[in-house]
Amino acid sequence: MARLRRWELRACARHGHATYAPTEPALAGRLSGTTGVGEVWRCLRCSDFVLGPPHARGPADEAPLVLRGKALRQAVILRLLAAERLLRAVLLGLATYGVLRFRDARGSIQAWLERYLPAFRATGVHVDQFALVRDLQHALAARSSQLTLVAALLGAYAALEAIEGVGLWLLKRWGEYFAAVATAIFLPLEVRELIKGVTFTRAGAFAINVAAVIYLLLAKRLFGLRGGRAAYDQERHGDSLLEVEAAAAAEPEQRPATIGSASARR
Ligand SMILES: [Zn+2]
Repeated sequence: MARLRRWELRACARHGHATYAPTEPALAGRLSGTTGVGEVWRCLRCSDFVLGPPHARGPADEAPLVLRGKALRQAVILRLLAAERLLRAVLLGLATYGVLRFRDARGSIQAWLERYLPAFRATGVHVDQFALVRDLQHALAARSSQLTLVAALLGAYAALEAIEGVGLWLLKRWGEYFAAVATAIFLPLEVRELIKGVTFTRAGAFAINVAAVIYLLLAKRLFGLRGGRAAYDQERHGDSLLEVEAAAAAEPEQRPATIGSASARR
């Protein structure tokens, strides 16, 4: 049965194939061939033969670890999560800036309200009952130091989301730990907000964050779960075409016809 390579082919279409010529002759022989129009090398990601010289050469040990299979699918999911974190970081950054601007412009906003609110009241519109106006007057009454504190908290939250986003995007192990811990810490707060009142945004954010924590813990085997780091590394390397072929080259009597059958035997 042909192995499904949908994710690999998509990644190769976006980033180009990843060919590599190992210095070990037996291994190089398994990964290359000659055709009437020139040499071909197997892509380490999608395992297709690609016409032309290899993109890099060197010992097999120094070959780049190309994401494929499960590791590639996980990388796509982590980057979607990273994008969501980075978007939140930008929004929180804008909110921080907004609070600071508001703090400094309170005088003029107050003056504007004092000038126009009496005119509205005179028309019989009960402007003072509008939630927005009440919130605004409430915020205007806040001390400058309170607004600075709010801005500092928002800024710190923005930085947290940005670090999570960068760590997840770069597919770093620390990024996975950081994201799992930082997300889990805020779950009790989110539960408290949900108890106050269920809104679509709150419920959505809560669902995403719970799923993210569970996913990171289990799929990335954090804190020693499901075999921990060792199992995680083994899984990534087990998917590597170069290592599958190197194992096959070391045992010439077990020549696999295809990569599919080689991994099926494992
Ligand atoms: Zn490829």
